[in-house]
Formats: sequence, C-alpha cells, structure tokens
Amino acid sequence: MTEIFEETFRHLGTSMSSEGIDLLKCDPNCNFWFPDGECFTTSTDIARMKRQLERHDSRHGFDGFLAFLQESHQHYHQSVIHVLKKDFPGFISLLRPAFLRYLFRLHPFHTVWQRVSYLFQSHKLRQVFSLASMYLGMSPFGTPGTYTLLQYTELTGGIWYPRGGFNQIARSLADVGKRLGANYHLACPVKGIAISSDKKALSVSLDTNEIIEADAVVVNADLLYAYQELLPSYNSKPTVSRKKEDISCSAITFYWSLSEKVPRLESHNMFVGQPSGQELPDVYWNRNRLSKPSFYVHVPSRTDPSAAPEGKDTVMVLILVDNIDTSKTPKENDIDGLVADTREYLLSAIEKRTGIVGLKALIEHESFHSPPTWQDMFNSDRGSVFGLNHSFFNILAFRPHIKHDFIDGIYFVGASTHPGAGVPTCLSGAKLTAERILQDLEIPIAWQNGSSHGKKDLGKTTASGFWRAWPRIALLGVLLLMIALWQM
Ligand SMILES: Cc1cc2nc3c(=O)[nH]c(=O)nc-3n(C[C@H](O)[C@H](O)[C@H](O)COP(=O)(O)OP(=O)(O)OC[C@H]3O[C@@H](n4cnc5c(N)ncnc54)[C@H](O)[C@@H]3O)c2cc1C
Repeated sequence: MTEIFEETFRHLGTSMSSEGIDLLKCDPNCNFWFPDGECFTTSTDIARMKRQLERHDSRHGFDGFLAFLQESHQHYHQSVIHVLKKDFPGFISLLRPAFLRYLFRLHPFHTVWQRVSYLFQSHKLRQVFSLASMYLGMSPFGTPGTYTLLQYTELTGGIWYPRGGFNQIARSLADVGKRLGANYHLACPVKGIAISSDKKALSVSLDTNEIIEADAVVVNADLLYAYQELLPSYNSKPTVSRKKEDISCSAITFYWSLSEKVPRLESHNMFVGQPSGQELPDVYWNRNRLSKPSFYVHVPSRTDPSAAPEGKDTVMVLILVDNIDTSKTPKENDIDGLVADTREYLLSAIEKRTGIVGLKALIEHESFHSPPTWQDMFNSDRGSVFGLNHSFFNILAFRPHIKHDFIDGIYFVGASTHPGAGVPTCLSGAKLTAERILQDLEIPIAWQNGSSHGKKDLGKTTASGFWRAWPRIALLGVLLLMIALWQM
C-alpha cells in the first residue's frame, strides 16, 4: 500500500524520495511453509504464481487465483474510496447511497475463509490466500470478507521495505512536521486531559506537570486506556466496549541476531498452523498452547544488507497470543512459561519445516516482547496489539468515532478508531481526523485546495434534519435488525 504513504507525503508538500526514503522490493513476497514441509511462494511475478498454483491444483488453481484478484481488487478499490477516505461519524453515514451501492460487493457479511473457500478448492491454497487476516490479529474464520484486500495489495503492489528500517518513515514524518512548525515533547507522557464544565477540551497535563492549553486534543494512545486513564470519568460515558471478545489479541515477538546467514528463510515467511484435534480457528493463535498456531518470520537483512553485519542475519518472529487476563494473578497468567514454550515451538517448527540445522545455536543475541511489554511500554489495554478487533460490529460507524461523541475538541486517531489498525490504515485515519478538526475550526484544508473551508454536514442529525433523514433512519433500523438476526 505504498500509494497511501506517497499520498501522505504529497499532501504534506513533499515526497518519500525527496525525504531520502529508499524503498526496497522484497522479492519474492512470502514463503508459506506448511506442517508437512511443503512451501508455497507468493510473488508479483504472474508466471511464477501460475506454476505454483497449478502444482497445487492443476484444474482450478489459476482460475481461482484470477477470480480472487478480481474480487479482492473490488474490495480494495471500493474500500479506499468509500471507507478509508470517508468519515463514519454516525449510523446514518452507513446509508450513503454511494457506499450502499457497493456494500454487498465488499462481502462484509461473509468471512475471509468463506470467500477463499468459494474461490479455491485446495485447502492449502485457501490458507495461503486467507492468512493475511493475521495482520489484524484475527483468524480468517472471523474476519469480514472485505479484508481479502490485504493479500491483494501484496500480490499486485508487492511488499516494500524502507532501507534502514520502518522507523525511517516515522522519522521523516516527524522531520516534515518540525519544518511545518510542530513541537514535540519526547519521553514525556500525558497524564490527563482537562475538560470544562460545559464539556469542552481545555488542556493536556504532562508527567512533568506542564499544562498545555489546546483548542483541539488528538488522542493517539490506545482508546480503552485513554477512556480509563486520560479522560475524566465523570465526563465520559462508557461508549467503548471493554468486552474481552471485542479487543484484538496480543503477541509475542522475538528478535534474534544470528551468527550466520540462513538462506532457507526469505524476507517474509509464514509458518502455517497445524490443527491437533481442536477447533480450526485456534490454529491461528496461541490461545491455549495446545494447538500449533501459525506464525510469521521476517528477515530484514535478506532485503536490506544494512540490517545485519556482513555474513549474518537478523530475524523477527511474531506469534499471536491471548491477552493478559485481568481476572487472573500474574502467576496464573504465567507469561514466562508462555514465552518459554512458544520459543521452543517456534525454533523446532522452523528447523523441521525448512531443514535449517541448529538454529538455536546460531542465536548470538535475543530480545523479546510479550503481552506485558505492549501494556507497559505502549499503554495497550491488556497487551492487545491491534486495538479493538475488526469484526463487523467493530468497523465503519460501529467503530469509535474520530470525534468524541459529546466532548467538544477531543478527537481520536489510531488503531481502535475508524478506519482501523495497520500503519497505512492509521495514516488514512490521521488525514480524516485532521480534516475533521480543520472543518470544525473553519480552517481551509490545504490538500483540498481550500475547497472545504467552513463547516460541513458530516452526518449529524439535527432536529430539523431529522424529518428529512427519517426514511434513511428507518431503512438503517431495518438493515441493522436484519444483520443482528443474521449474526445470531
Ligand atoms: C509486532 C507488530 C508488528 C506489526 N506489523 C505491522 C506491519 O507490518 N504492517 C502494518 O501496517 N501494521 C503492523 N502492525 C500494526 C501497527 O503497528 C498498528 O496497527 C499501528 O501502529 C497502530 O497505530 P496507533 O497510532 O494506533 O498506535 P501506536 O503506533 O501504538 O501509537 C500510539 C502511541 O501513543 C503512545 N502513548 C500511549 N500512552 C501515552 C501517554 N499517556 N502519553 C504519551 N504517549 C502515549 C504510545 O507509546 C505509542 O507510541 C504491527 C503491530 C505489531 C505489534
């Protein structure tokens, strides 16, 4: 999704290349390693894809792939136009005619697994084309079908790595901000947000006791944490669900410096989970430690030689795990045991499937992040790494809104806010939030040539507007009822 990054830099009056960002293509895209040692390599090279697909399913494999591309192309392009670039400030915005026209073509009421099962007959191909839902911390069995767009973007646009690491993008954006007059207070947590008695944001207070007055406060910290810790409770109603099933899972990541190169591992590698009697969805994450879940291995030094000393490799392994259970004691959560068991499973699965011998002995240096790290370092509620999950009732107008529902001057951005998690999605959300603030403050939006100066009707139903809107409200009620019945 490089185009979203390009667009962000363009709207800031610059470009990635003029900021010194050098994008390197990861070729091939990804190796999918199956439990039986078989490997499927995805690529933007169509001839290579055709050969692999026909090896797995000579009759239907390539046809299924073409149909997958056609369908997920619609999912991606219509989502960019009607979801990623649009605010959903209220339920009425679900009834925009342009959005409704495409709603069913986006397959939000199907799951990713249902879509790939319809298009592919081979179980392995279904896994290859559905596992990207792990990028949202979800299993393909619960992710809305629209999200086949994740795999589509990789297959048609490729996977790109900024030379020097992903933090080059964040650094460049920070530099552009500085040039445009932004001031950063680093290593200085926000303690709270003050609200006036007539429900307007007044200021933020920092850990240093400094108070910064503000016309608008943009909250980027994890939403559940922000509602609990930053916004005064007497002023905020519990509009954000705290149900366990509504937040995304957590993750364990290992960072290994290897004393030798391991050429069997490509830049991106997905190790497909293995069912062992229990429900298939558990294959996608380490909920109960009984299953052998899927996991992802990234070798940045395969694409960018500067990521490791000559002749060596750097490796990052990511596996999804359950959140911290706040009803249990730290001993009962047993994170140390989980990390140790997970490490053994990862090393043995990588060695067995790829044929690498003695991987453990090659690790010169190791560090890891586990659920408490995400909670303590980033204030993520219960260590969840993708914010609220992306089931149907947590997306679009159901996802927490960009603007606080009843406190003026408070805006949100990031994974738990519309449009959702993932860096390009959060960047798109940041632009929507910026546009909303500029409209509210009646400041022209530079990247729209000032055409949006002044307040816009963003879907709020005023008393007089209600009578004009009631047919749409009635239709929305019927639609929601149908969806609720369908979900039961
Ligand atoms: C291991 C891992 C790998 C991932 N890989 C990818 C990937 O390859 N591609 C992709 O698109 N997405 C990826 N993601 C997801 C992506 O990183 C997130 O969806 C995205 O970063 C969310 O952005 P955010 O702004 O909501 O939160 P964050 O990026 O977490 O930013 C929130 C910031 O707020 C800060 N903060 C919290 N509380 C306070 C406070 N009180 N005061 C001041 N600051 C505070 C936090 O420290 C943090 O820096 C990955 C996530 C993880 C965990």
